[in-house]
Amino acid sequence: MNNLTKETQKTLIYILIAFTFSVLMRMIWLYQFQDMEAFKHAGQFMINTNDGYYWAEGARDILSGISQKNDLSPINSAVSQLTAFFAFILPFSFESVILFMPVFLSSLLVIPIVLIARVLNNLEMGFIAALLASITWSYYNRTMVGYYDTDMLNIVLPMFLLWSMIGAIQTNEKKYLIIAALDILIYRWWYPQSYSLEFSFFGLILVYTLIFERKNIYSYKLLAIMLFAMIGLDDLTRLGLVLVSFYIFTQKKYDKYVYYIFTSAIVLFFVSGGFSPIWAQLKGYIFSREAIVADEGLKLHFFAVIQTIREAGHIPFETFANRISGHSVTFVISILGYLFLAYRHRIMLLALPMVGLGFLASVGGLRFTIYAVPILALGIAFLITQIAQNMPTKKLKYLSMVAFTLMVLYPNYQHIESYKVPTVLNSNEVTGLSLLKEKAQREDYTIAWWDYGYPIRYYSDVKTLADGGKHAGDVNFPVSFMLTSPQEEAARLARLDVEYTEKNFESNRSYSNIEQMTKDYGFSDTNDFLFSLQTYIELPSKTRDIYFYLPYNMLNIYPTVRKFSNMNLMNGEKQKEPFYFISRNFREIKDKIQLGQNIFINKKDLSLEMNGKRVATRRFVKTSYNEDKKFYKDIKLLDFGAGLSIIYMSAYNTFLVLDEKSYNSLYIQLMVLEEYNKEFFEPVVANPFLKIYKLKI
Ligand code: MN
Repeated sequence: MNNLTKETQKTLIYILIAFTFSVLMRMIWLYQFQDMEAFKHAGQFMINTNDGYYWAEGARDILSGISQKNDLSPINSAVSQLTAFFAFILPFSFESVILFMPVFLSSLLVIPIVLIARVLNNLEMGFIAALLASITWSYYNRTMVGYYDTDMLNIVLPMFLLWSMIGAIQTNEKKYLIIAALDILIYRWWYPQSYSLEFSFFGLILVYTLIFERKNIYSYKLLAIMLFAMIGLDDLTRLGLVLVSFYIFTQKKYDKYVYYIFTSAIVLFFVSGGFSPIWAQLKGYIFSREAIVADEGLKLHFFAVIQTIREAGHIPFETFANRISGHSVTFVISILGYLFLAYRHRIMLLALPMVGLGFLASVGGLRFTIYAVPILALGIAFLITQIAQNMPTKKLKYLSMVAFTLMVLYPNYQHIESYKVPTVLNSNEVTGLSLLKEKAQREDYTIAWWDYGYPIRYYSDVKTLADGGKHAGDVNFPVSFMLTSPQEEAARLARLDVEYTEKNFESNRSYSNIEQMTKDYGFSDTNDFLFSLQTYIELPSKTRDIYFYLPYNMLNIYPTVRKFSNMNLMNGEKQKEPFYFISRNFREIKDKIQLGQNIFINKKDLSLEMNGKRVATRRFVKTSYNEDKKFYKDIKLLDFGAGLSIIYMSAYNTFLVLDEKSYNSLYIQLMVLEEYNKEFFEPVVANPFLKIYKLKI
């Protein structure tokens, strides 16, 4: 008994130290940016992941009790609910809660790691692995302070499940049955896509049972209770089934019914469509890469977001290894360590789905690497403890453990120190959005590229057309068209798309707004409809106000934004790439200004020199702000026959070289030049980082 207590004490101390270590390492970012006022809002640092604003919007709406139909606010999501709960009971600001939730929740990872090691009677291994996994490269990146997203529990929860399954099989203790089932329920609530991982764990236990434990009734209890937690019924029903079956499983007199219960669990699993999410996921994976073409009607072709994201295809080995272990050498040794660990403790083969999911990163994208982190950390920690055990003296034993642990931790510490990610928005942008919140109604729309959708909804409580979860080709097309077309056309399409989007919440048609507009205005060719926007057309009646969100930093993604509408929707043909060049690294050399490798401005006549050839300049524009932050521009018309214009944004040290189409686009005219058509637009916010205009039609 005394021994056990000592072991428990040691377990608690290891968990506490590792947890504190994990939390402190996540404070480095805050320390580095403590004087960075642009990263702060309302006296607190802002978050650094776009998607976080989605959950924040949901939590805000839960707390205020205000949410509208069709506002896309995730008030039913686990992340938002848990956040609202913390913000409600804790004495900290909402801003602080979302900033620090990832720090504390992700650090819980150390608990299942130490507990797994305890089941394997090697606590030191757990301690070392916990220190390492909690700060390993990719795990850190996705759970650092301000990385407010589902990742903060996405590894913690399956690790608890792994611990309970290992404990269950090793000890056959009843408590592990209920822990495993409850963990599955929580994990699914937190992250509905968790299904495949749960299912693989289940499959492994099934195989294990059929091979080694066919006669052991406990294994069937474990399988049945896991299935009840996983079947395709709502949360409460599954919780009920889990609790009832757990009660039955703890009563010896009911043991004769276990096989019937197991069989009915399987039947219920298939009947309730338990397998269909896996099928849907497989289908989604196979088909999502295709460009989207509607099957019926005009068969319009849209540009898919996936086409702009660099194909995961080939990830260099070093990147992959760094993400999983912090260093290539650590990575290779960790794999050997895991194999050795699985050889010594067969039960660790149960961790294979997590390792497999981590390795899926090489085809499915780097975000998967975090799944392999804790398992490979256990692998190398096991090796370290084995080496230490073979040391001749006790002193050498501890010395080697400390030395090797520091060696594997160090590259990850270095990474943390150098990983200086900025916040999603800067304080000037948020000031603008706060102003918008005061002016706009909840039902109004703000038009912006999808990247800005969630933050806008959070700070201004308005609606958006596109966001981090709603950016299919047909949703992006009109937004891209508005931002990159002349003001009149953009204004008309804005009114149309907002009203059509609202109407579609009721009608739920399966094809795009653009297709419906084309038909409603009596065209059979979408190009003709888009062309008609250049002149007066009768617009649907106005049900709400519309704003345009135009941040300075959209300059960098303008060419990407343009891609989504720079195509013929009727046949999918891409149109000519626009000329759009930004230079922030220019330098003066004698009578020229060098903007890029092969592009210069001749100071004398302001003409361009590209690849050694002189190109006439249509306009040379200089914009600036005076001391009162008042905007000025000076436009020199140089050669009306020329195609390219130069804009020197002196306040930003930025040169732009643009063709006529880009120059005349809404974004350049309204954001860069503040040259708005008063018939259609009215400025609402105009600071150097952000311009917001209200649509007047
Ligand atoms: Mn709202």
